[in-house]
Amino acid sequence: MLFKRVLIANRGEIAIRVIRCCRELGIETIAVYSDVDRNSAHVLLADRAYMIGPGPSKESYLNVDKILAVARECGADAIHPGYGFMSENADFARRVEAAGINFIGPTPENIVAMGDKLSSRELMKAAGVPTVPGSDGIIRDIEHAQNEAERIGYPVMIKASAGGGGKGIRVAFSPSELPSAFRTCQSEGRNYFGDDRVFIERFIQNPKHIEIQVFGDKHGNVVHLFERECSMQRRNQKILEESPSISVPQAVREEMGRVAVKAAKAIDYVGAGTIEFIFDNKTKEFFFMEMNTRLQVEHPITEMVTGVDLVQEQLFVAAGRKLSFKQADITQKGHSIELRICAEDPVNFTPSPGKIRRCRLPQGPFVRVDGYAYPGYEIPIYYDPMIAKLIVWGHTREECIHRLKRALAETMLTGVKSNLVLHKNILEHPVFLDGSYTTQFIEQEIKGKKQRQLFMFVDEHVFLISAAISAYKDSKLRDVSNFNLASRWKDVGRKTSLRV
Ligand code: ADP
Ligand code: ADP
Ligand code: MG
Repeated sequence: MLFKRVLIANRGEIAIRVIRCCRELGIETIAVYSDVDRNSAHVLLADRAYMIGPGPSKESYLNVDKILAVARECGADAIHPGYGFMSENADFARRVEAAGINFIGPTPENIVAMGDKLSSRELMKAAGVPTVPGSDGIIRDIEHAQNEAERIGYPVMIKASAGGGGKGIRVAFSPSELPSAFRTCQSEGRNYFGDDRVFIERFIQNPKHIEIQVFGDKHGNVVHLFERECSMQRRNQKILEESPSISVPQAVREEMGRVAVKAAKAIDYVGAGTIEFIFDNKTKEFFFMEMNTRLQVEHPITEMVTGVDLVQEQLFVAAGRKLSFKQADITQKGHSIELRICAEDPVNFTPSPGKIRRCRLPQGPFVRVDGYAYPGYEIPIYYDPMIAKLIVWGHTREECIHRLKRALAETMLTGVKSNLVLHKNILEHPVFLDGSYTTQFIEQEIKGKKQRQLFMFVDEHVFLISAAISAYKDSKLRDVSNFNLASRWKDVGRKTSLRV
């Protein structure tokens, strides 16, 4: 028996993704929301919605008592945690199960096993999964750090064992940088995660982030659904993902899949999960980094190339069904890329909450938008700035990129800053186009450099002002010394009139 009524303990695009899946299966949906989210699209789309507290996550989306009370009151027989918030919280999973409600996700034991970077590393090493060469355990003090770093070889990466979301990670290129990197990681670990244990890894140069989607059921079956390349990152956070990765040779791809299945089997994994590897683009070696025991933001690109509905499968597995496919049934067809559209400054990446004025999202063949932005919607300050994901499919990577450019040209978002322009720049960059980009791409190739059409899309007021200035510069300033400025405005004016 599949579920009758599912509560979604999340917000934004991922809540909508789950609602859509449930509706297709004839399952009722219960949304929860904070008071600043009352006009959020997930509230409008669910069958029923309950306010659970004020804006700050701690008082609403992380309020376990309140969420469980709503689930009991409305008779939910399952809870989907989405990603972020409580999706990787073993205590929450335990309390949901203790209340007689199904947790749509892995077992609490799975979450505990992979929740800590150091212990999951040890676990994976024992299971024969390659891990980044590094310290055998916790680093006690600076002297210990220096000895271990010497042994591993510089540059090294110091990581807080409890870290996540890019926090608690520092690189030391030489012994002189080690003490401060060590202390910073310890204090970030303590301040963000209440845990100051750190360890050291070799820093992989020219690294690519390649991850494997895995899926397990309650009957001991585990399969993988191939890779996603997520090397396009700012602040150690992904902004563009693609599948397949053109850097991974076929033999290595198959090996990564086998290793990921072995890793998941080692902990009797149930549900959707992702094994993240750091991949050396020169040697083609790969090493386990961490496992995310949840649905991933970028799961749609896997859905596009494999034809599997990952959220539907999550529901089936949680209800006790066997996986609806075998390894041999899964193949990759064509190419898919996802762009994360964020309300943030495209230059320094700080969030840009506020009211959306105009919002036009792309449509058309092989284009999928998972988002919750609409004109007049006020993006709250409390949550992640990602407001939509643009996902496209093509027979080839080239076709996919052309289609993305077409889709971006149809897109308009005003009132808040957004990273649309950053994406346009990435899609035209030779290092992205030849596929050789690494996790350092934005830092090395984009940040601090002039971005073409920098002011496009920022705000319609800027469109008008820039067009006016462009006209002025054209007539009066063409020959004066301030040539660069004049040509930049001119470019903006030209593009503006093309696109608006
Ligand atoms: P993915 O690997 O799925 O791309 P991200 O690291 O980008 O994952 O995080 C997924 C989501 O979880 C994002 O919305 C992010 O803001 C949120 N998130 C990540 N870490 C935390 C955390 N420690 N607490 C709350 N939310 C988090
Ligand atoms: P988080 O929990 O914050 O996601 P990860 O361990 O997954 O932490 O690392 C985040 C990012 O840092 C990776 O996606 C990768 O870009 C980079 N990174 C992690 N470990 C290494 C390493 N040993 N060498 C080089 N880069 C690394
Ligand atoms: Mg990670």
